[in-house]
Amino acid sequence: MTIDLLITDVGELVCVSFAGKPKSGKDMSNIEILLHHSIAINQGQIIDIGPADLLSAKYQPSHKIDARYKVITPGFVDPHTHPIFVHTRESEFEMRILGKTYVEISQSGGGILSTIITTRDASEDRLLSLAKARIEKMIMQGTTTLEAKSGYGLTTESELKQLNVIKQLADELPIDIIPTFMGAHEFPEEFKHDHQAYIDILCDRMLPAVAEQGIAKYCDIFTEAHVYNLEESRIVLTKAKELGLKLKMHADEIEPMGGAELAAELKCTSADHLGKTSAAGIKALKEAGVIPVLLPATLFSLASKTYAPARDMINADLPVALATDFNPGSCNCDSVPFVMTLSCLQMKMTPAEALTACTINAAAAIDMDDKVGSISIGKQADLLIWDIPSYKYIPYHIGSSSPETVIKNGKVLSFPL
Ligand SMILES: [Zn+2]
Repeated sequence: MTIDLLITDVGELVCVSFAGKPKSGKDMSNIEILLHHSIAINQGQIIDIGPADLLSAKYQPSHKIDARYKVITPGFVDPHTHPIFVHTRESEFEMRILGKTYVEISQSGGGILSTIITTRDASEDRLLSLAKARIEKMIMQGTTTLEAKSGYGLTTESELKQLNVIKQLADELPIDIIPTFMGAHEFPEEFKHDHQAYIDILCDRMLPAVAEQGIAKYCDIFTEAHVYNLEESRIVLTKAKELGLKLKMHADEIEPMGGAELAAELKCTSADHLGKTSAAGIKALKEAGVIPVLLPATLFSLASKTYAPARDMINADLPVALATDFNPGSCNCDSVPFVMTLSCLQMKMTPAEALTACTINAAAAIDMDDKVGSISIGKQADLLIWDIPSYKYIPYHIGSSSPETVIKNGKVLSFPL
C-alpha cells in the first residue's frame, strides 16, 4: 500500500495511550512505550503502528523518516492560554520581585485592566500578527493543539474582535486552536462599583452575540475573591450553558473559596489553577467528572511557595492535566516542557505523569481526546521527534527542551512558519 509517510524504527515510541483515552490516577504513569516500532501515516492520520521490519514490508511511503535513536511523543496540547494582547508587563514582574502581590498590582491599576486598555484600542491585524509570533514559538517547543481565550476587552465589540482574531489564527496557523470566551476575566473599570450592571451585559448582550456567531466553544470565568464571587460565577456560567457553550473556570487559584465545588455543580469540562483547592473540592471534581488543569508556571512566576495538590488529585483517581497559562501578566511562559519540569519538581509528578498530563489528559480538557493527545491508530498524526535518550530527558533538561521535528496532521513543520 502506498502511503504519505513512514517513520521507521523509532528508538523509543511513547504512545501515552494506545486506546486514545484520558488516564486517571495510577494509570497516568502507564505511558505505553514501544521500542523499534514504526508509524505509518496517510492523509494526516496514523493508520498503523507496528514492528519496524513488518511495516517496511507492508507500506511504500512517499516520504520516510529514520527515527533510530530518537524518541517520539504525541504533540503537546496546551489547554489554557491567553495569547491575544498588545503590550507585555515586565514592569509588574519587577514589582512582584520587590514584594507587591498580584492582587495589590491589580488594585493599583496594573494587572488585567492595563492589558485591557491597549487591547481595546488595537486593530484585529495588530492583534493577529502579535499572537501569531507568540504561538509560533509555542509550536517550536512542541505545542500542536492550543486553547486560546479572549478576555482582554470586556466590551461586546472588543471580545468579539479577540474571538475573530482567534478564528483567523486557527485558519492561518497549521495547528488546532480552540476558542474560549472570557468576558468575565475581570470587571471593567467603568463597572468597578456596579458589578450587577456588567453581569447583565455579559448575560444579555455578550454571551448571546458570542453564541449566535458560533465563535467560541467554551465560556470561562475568573472566580476568585477579588473578581467574580461564587454567586456571580453561577449566574454567568448558567447563562453560557443555556446558550450551548461548554464551561471552564479559573478556580481556587489564590483562596479555597469553593470554585472546584461550583465547577462540579455546573459540570464544567475543566476547573483550572486549583492552587488552593480543598479536599472537598477534589472529591467534588472526581464525582462530577471535571478535569483539573494545573498551571504550575503561574505559581512559579508569582514566586509562590506552594503549588496545587497534584499528588492528592492523582491519589483521588483524577485525570490531571497541565497547561502553560501563557499570558502577559502572571505567567509569560510558552513552554510546555518547562511546565513539565515544574510539575515534576514542585508537585512531585513523575515524568510519565507529566507527559500524560500534557498530552491525552490536556486533550480531554478541551474535548479533543478523540482526535489528538496520543499516538493511536485513527488519530491525527501530531508527533514530536526528539533527539534525546529517553522521554524523561524532556523535564530533566530544564528550560531548554524542544523537539527536533514537529509533525502536525502528518506534515513536517518548518520554521519560520
Ligand atoms: Zn488563565
